[in-house]
Amino acid sequence: MSEPETVIVIGAGVIGLTTALHIQQHLRRNQSLLLIARDLPSDTSVNYASPWAGAHYRPVPGSSPQSLREADQARRTYEYLRQIAAAEPGAGIRFVQGVEHLEAPPPEYLDEQSVRIVYSHLDEFRVLSPTELPRGVKWGVHYGTYVINSPVYCAHMLRKFILKGGRAMRGTLTDPREAFSLATNVKTVVNCSGMGFADPSSFIIRGQTCLVRNPVSATITRQNSDGSWSFCIPRPLDGGTIIGGTKQPHEWDPHPSPETRKRLLANAAKWFPFTPESGGQFDVVQDIVGRRPAREGGVRIEAEKLDGERYIVHGYGAGGRGFEISKGVAEDITTLMVEKGLVLGTARASL
Ligand SMILES: Cc1cc2nc3c(=O)[nH]c(=O)nc-3n(C[C@H](O)[C@H](O)[C@H](O)COP(=O)(O)OP(=O)(O)OC[C@H]3O[C@@H](n4cnc5c(N)ncnc54)[C@H](O)[C@@H]3O)c2cc1C
Repeated sequence: MSEPETVIVIGAGVIGLTTALHIQQHLRRNQSLLLIARDLPSDTSVNYASPWAGAHYRPVPGSSPQSLREADQARRTYEYLRQIAAAEPGAGIRFVQGVEHLEAPPPEYLDEQSVRIVYSHLDEFRVLSPTELPRGVKWGVHYGTYVINSPVYCAHMLRKFILKGGRAMRGTLTDPREAFSLATNVKTVVNCSGMGFADPSSFIIRGQTCLVRNPVSATITRQNSDGSWSFCIPRPLDGGTIIGGTKQPHEWDPHPSPETRKRLLANAAKWFPFTPESGGQFDVVQDIVGRRPAREGGVRIEAEKLDGERYIVHGYGAGGRGFEISKGVAEDITTLMVEKGLVLGTARASL
């Protein structure tokens, strides 16, 4: 029997947790997995993006290499969300109707092929006819999609990881190379730290949303003629509704803006079908501000070879789509690890 080996995953956001669960299926008999993170599910830091996410699965058309790669990762994640929603009701994932209404659709939304690539795998997908569009809306679609109660889902994944034999600890690293000293015989460190470590390509995208108790049955996204976006996302397991939202690259203010809250709620009252008993009033639970960990060119998935046989495998920079692409990213990271001989090629059957 060969010497016991520990594989380390840095990060307990949706990317680190999904990746850790996926790697668990590929461990050799002598390998175990240790997850280390500054923030763990149930923590609330503006720099820990995952618990703040809406989160809904909403396709984003585009023809750049990043868009096409994400479309493929998203497609695989959609199937995974379907399986988890059916098999694990406590995970906080629910199938709902999704609607998009765009007042000034960018060119990629009018390109049939771009639309087909990202939307055609969705259940019940169809482009709305002009007679179905509300006044002022130029383009719209309808489909079946998934919404995720993000803090519940992250806690669920951590629990599942531990039940399957994984270990988790809290800790802040200055450099991913520190992780090689956390256990004996560490050959692989998987860097799912969101922003990476001083990567000049990484940047934040601030998001402000508002969590309200008022229920809504569908996730609806509206692009306004000024280019801003409004959306409502029901949170499964009676978690209320997320009303959003802003996307502000390089904006660091950690405080919610009262003006932004007012605008988000006013738009939501106009456009989204809250039940009549709300009487147009919102029962606000919390203003939310989070920083999406974005990166020029998208997620970095790369194996960096150090001295000897040691590797840092990077998987960070998911920006505003971490939940939507999580399973695809986890699979791509693991495939790279298999190619480098760091874990087993054949997965043990498991969700
Ligand atoms: C308002 C808002 C709405 C959003 N809506 C959606 C949505 O609808 N759909 C969607 O798919 N996505 C959405 N997102 C984006 C989504 O939240 C992110 O893409 C996702 O959470 C990124 O996950 P991550 O695991 O890469 O990073 P994070 O969740 O930030 O996790 C990073 C992990 O790395 C750890 N870490 C970082 N540095 C260190 C260090 N030096 N040492 C040790 N540990 C470290 C952190 O503690 C944490 O555990 C939204 C985000 C925001 C803010």
